Amino acid sequence: MTDSVLSCAADPMGAAIYDFHKNGKADVLRVFSSQFEEDEIPVADLFREFEDMPELEQVALEMASGKILDVGAGSGCHSMALMEMGKKVKAIDISPLSVLVMKDRGVDASQVNFYDKSYSERFDTVLMLMNGTGIIGRIENIPAFFERLKNLLKPGGCLLMDSSDLRYLFEEEDGSLLIDLADDYYGQLDYQMEYVGAVDKELDGVKGEPFDWLYLDFDSLAFYAEECGFKVELIAEGEHYDYLAKLTINQQ
Ligand code: SAH
Repeated sequence: MTDSVLSCAADPMGAAIYDFHKNGKADVLRVFSSQFEEDEIPVADLFREFEDMPELEQVALEMASGKILDVGAGSGCHSMALMEMGKKVKAIDISPLSVLVMKDRGVDASQVNFYDKSYSERFDTVLMLMNGTGIIGRIENIPAFFERLKNLLKPGGCLLMDSSDLRYLFEEEDGSLLIDLADDYYGQLDYQMEYVGAVDKELDGVKGEPFDWLYLDFDSLAFYAEECGFKVELIAEGEHYDYLAKLTINQQ
């Protein structure tokens, strides 16, 4: 797992966020994957306000306390909602253009990779929202993820993260799962993004490198987290195989 950040030329999501922030509209943020059909992310959704957020995200924001770190903060939508609640938050993201937009919106944002060990501040709450398990990337990266998390949490601090369980993509009508056990874990995807139709010509057609993104189901998260010395609590379940979990360092 790399601990580096992106350049503007390889930052399609940042380009979409920047275009929307600056010009009030954004065209098409295309998502490719070797496992699925081409898809699109509605850019306006990345600017959602508290009232429009899924309930799991609202619950996480209400629970967050003390010094908060918003990891992979994107447009800064969660950081801004927390600031409106009077809470103290810092945001990090590998995307240079997203960080630029967040700063412009008044968020205390830095261009930092979650895995960069030189970022040594500690927090009471670490937030990873909108499929927060994605940043783990691949199953074999789980121990490195939890090592890093231990270094970001103050004593008694917690991680609040959400994810979807992609089992519904493989479920048969009778509820059985059609999964090839010889294959990689079913929530392990590769993605690539491209932003097309930008108002600013230099942002048009920006394409990123492929990256790994992990959708970890709750039972697997709980299993690995406990192996890595964390206590896991299921806080809430969403309407479509999604959940919010709270992880704290196991003191015993
Ligand atoms: N949390 C935001 C954005 C989610 S998209 C929201 O809910 O709207 C995921 C974000 O994570 C992107 O902005 C991406 O640039 C960022 N990201 C991906 N890997 C990262 C890493 N290793 N460290 C920090 N940010 C990362």
